[in-house]
Amino acid sequence: MKKNIETDVLIIGGGPVGIQASRMLCTSKPKPRVHVVRPEDYSMVYCAIPYAIEGLIPLEKTFKKDSLVTDSGAELVRGTVRSVNARDHIAILEDGREVTYGKMLLATGATPFRPPMPGVNAQNVFTVKTEADTRKILSQLARNAQCDTLDPGAHSKPPQKVVVIGAGAIGIEQALAYRANQLEVHLIEMQNHVLPHLIDTDMAGPVTEQLANAGVHLHLGTRLESLKGDQYITRVHLSGDETIDLDPEHDFVVISIGMTPVIDFLDASEFERTSDGLVVDKHMKTSAPDVWAAGDCVAYLSGIDGEHLGGKLATNAVPMAKVAARNMMGTPTAYPGFFNGAATIVGKLRIGGTGFTETFAASRGMKVYTSDVTTTARFPMMPDAGSIKIKLIFEKESDRLVGAQVLGTEAVAERIDLLTFAIQRGVTALELSELSYSAQPWQTFFPARNAIVEAATLAVSMGQEQ
Ligand SMILES: Cc1cc2nc3c(=O)[nH]c(=O)nc-3n(C[C@H](O)[C@H](O)[C@H](O)COP(=O)(O)OP(=O)(O)OC[C@H]3O[C@@H](n4cnc5c(N)ncnc54)[C@H](O)[C@@H]3O)c2cc1C
Repeated sequence: MKKNIETDVLIIGGGPVGIQASRMLCTSKPKPRVHVVRPEDYSMVYCAIPYAIEGLIPLEKTFKKDSLVTDSGAELVRGTVRSVNARDHIAILEDGREVTYGKMLLATGATPFRPPMPGVNAQNVFTVKTEADTRKILSQLARNAQCDTLDPGAHSKPPQKVVVIGAGAIGIEQALAYRANQLEVHLIEMQNHVLPHLIDTDMAGPVTEQLANAGVHLHLGTRLESLKGDQYITRVHLSGDETIDLDPEHDFVVISIGMTPVIDFLDASEFERTSDGLVVDKHMKTSAPDVWAAGDCVAYLSGIDGEHLGGKLATNAVPMAKVAARNMMGTPTAYPGFFNGAATIVGKLRIGGTGFTETFAASRGMKVYTSDVTTTARFPMMPDAGSIKIKLIFEKESDRLVGAQVLGTEAVAERIDLLTFAIQRGVTALELSELSYSAQPWQTFFPARNAIVEAATLAVSMGQEQ
């Protein structure tokens, strides 16, 4: 029988939060005993899953090494926590082991949301997060490829078909991975444009164009109504009486419409929560004694208006983990909130967004004005000088930057990071127009014009007209 465990710090979950926090906690003096419980054989780099599906990298390259946890002296425990008694500081694992802890960090992440409708758990309906999810998809693709080789008339067979529900970054990256496998791909989005949380309609045109060039059938303003079939889905019903028929042997559906926090194993009377996750204070402390939480399993606030905001990104999870670890080590540190800088790529087009979109700002009752500017990404006479388009969103009342979107052929994520920092620091249009920048023929437009400065300068004149 496996032994019970006693530890100073128990971390439940071995994703980015578990890894980051364990490494920091192990540097505390005196060094605490730190145990990380995780069910999977491997932690994964989820962001790289589409490229494993595409065939660009082997799946194994997405596995993280256990030494990320164990090198710092933390112990890795394979298992799943079934329940927590926070008052008595005891967690119980599914195999019956008890872990008695001094402090606990919940880092249990989130799992892909499946809409509550018949057929959603059929055998050819997948979500994308875990190694198991990815292996199911890879074997579905391999099955079809195998049939093609075995069937001499394969070339006359219609291509394997996939219906991807949700055109956020995960859905788009999935759609492109299936196109790389020569599938017929239908991408369904209920909003009127792709990446609705990242960019506004007026920025989405080039993304739509790139998806069409890649051969993705885009169904915008279209809702998934129902899935027909028992063990296997044979027909997808969409709004507007549209249907897509599926061959149950080969075709499949992928759902990527958001994430649900993994918190059901926790007693609701001990752990305050919303539908988006555990409620934590600015120190990442939960409502339970000596328990902190960070990452996808928590609900938190916008760093812009202090209201609730979704933010299930690794780039939020890791800073939250740092804040939680510092507080657990006795150094009071506050988490400023989500800004949600994020980026994706479609063909040669890189797309980034940060802060509020214009549409989202309006939904929060914030009055804004916007400006946008396009330049080339290199000096125009240089080879392959693609373009950079920047949209900036400023709050009318304060003139501070509250959102930005960038489309371009290079250096998009870098610009988004700079603009996120400007949002974090409450920079105004005038201040941003005074940004000091660099210029070089291969890397930027002419020294006389920097797209961010131009857009901010334009915004200053617009702000003065208000
Ligand atoms: C396909 C995909 C692509 C993504 N791309 C990006 C990207 O490009 N950029 C970006 O910033 N973010 C991206 N994300 C989001 C990012 O991966 C998550 O925000 C991040 O992993 C959250 O980290 P976490 O540690 O909070 O949770 P997770 O990484 O989800 O880790 C949670 C861990 O807790 C474990 N666990 C859960 N319940 C229990 C239990 N009861 N007992 C023990 N262990 C438990 C889980 O098994 C897991 O090990 C992507 C996500 C997906 C799915």
